[in-house]
Amino acid sequence: MATAGKVIKCKAAVAWEAGKPLSIEEVEVAPPQAMEVRVKILFTSLCHTDVYFWEAKGQTPVFPRIFGHEAGGIIESVGEGVTDVAPGDHVLPVFTGECKECAHCKSAESNMCDLLRINTDRGVMIGDGKSRFSINGKPIYHFVGTSTFSEYTVMHVGCVAKINPQAPLDKVCVLSCGISTGLGASINVARPPKGSTVAIFGLGAVGLAAAEGARIAGASRIIGVDLNPSRFEEARKFGCTEFVNPKDHNKPVQEVLAEMTNGGVDRSVECTGNINAMIQAFECVHDGWGVAVLVGVPHKDAEFKTHPMNFLNERTLKGTFFGNYKPRTDLPNVVELYMKKELEVEKFITHSVSFAEINKAFDLMAKGEGIRCIIRMETSLSVL
Ligand code: NAD
Ligand code: ZN
Repeated sequence: MATAGKVIKCKAAVAWEAGKPLSIEEVEVAPPQAMEVRVKILFTSLCHTDVYFWEAKGQTPVFPRIFGHEAGGIIESVGEGVTDVAPGDHVLPVFTGECKECAHCKSAESNMCDLLRINTDRGVMIGDGKSRFSINGKPIYHFVGTSTFSEYTVMHVGCVAKINPQAPLDKVCVLSCGISTGLGASINVARPPKGSTVAIFGLGAVGLAAAEGARIAGASRIIGVDLNPSRFEEARKFGCTEFVNPKDHNKPVQEVLAEMTNGGVDRSVECTGNINAMIQAFECVHDGWGVAVLVGVPHKDAEFKTHPMNFLNERTLKGTFFGNYKPRTDLPNVVELYMKKELEVEKFITHSVSFAEINKAFDLMAKGEGIRCIIRMETSLSVL
């Protein structure tokens, strides 16, 4: 590629301050260093995790910053030592990486890579502690090692999954975070037995994918719990069979669910980020065998409070990032599920906007409208 080794000037949506609309700016993107890749982003979407760190109400503020982590793109150039991917390869960025060498990457159970696991407070590359983005020489910080709200971005090679080049990036981009996370939280972590009852807290993209995962695993009752009843009708398409709006009841939702299920659900998956919902999701599982899985990203000062007897009574509490999938090893196979028509992603994509309209995607999420909004990137690069 003619751009390899050179600084690229392109457009990125920069968050200058917490909670202020993003502004499209010309940024300079440095070439990838050792074990890094530079990726041309073609499609990205907004996940609630971006919004939490942009609002920075319950999270550490790191600004100016380029957000974005759910995306699809093509490798433009690679740094020294990169042999796994080459320019032209189609990739999905992932907010948590896989070095393939540490104890976690070698363990069949873990996807919590020692080197590249999610770090929401770091705004620089791990290689040299610097940012690859700048405007007039002033650094702009990265987000979770991906920063996909930019026409070009630089990532550690361990944070990109090489996928089938036939897969349409405008669809499979949503597999790079939310959908795989929810799907894996059910299939890999909650593992509902056939015929079991599962409660899903939060019916956004992650929760709906968790419902889909529960259905694939063979659950027969899937109870969607959300404060926003406009989610309910749509959620039937994702396998939900019943709904509970905690606001409709004057007793704790745990009790409502226990009454509906003869003592509690067999599995629950929490996909809200709300600490009360996390506690409810745990306390609503059946004693003796119930398993609850936390997926939502909590407020930085949140504390989980429950009576220890809930554990003694043989309930299990788990949590997961990225549905326990190893990003480089497993994500290409999730894409193949879509290619074989065993997994539908179109139904998660309810809106699409141009890059210039990126703030509309934030408005939709704030209003709780739709599921995923795809942001179509443009290419306006010049080489310095
Ligand atoms: P979303 O905003 O689209 O959906 C969240 C849903 O939860 C909304 O429908 C909302 O009405 C509902 N909700 C909020 N508070 C609730 C409560 N107290 N009780 C019941 N329902 C409630 O968000 P999303 O993009 O689907 O993400 C969901 C969560 O998953 C977020 O916290 C996000 O940060 C997190 N996440 C985690 C991972 C991971 O790897 N662990 C990956 C992606 C996203
Ligand atoms: Zn996400």
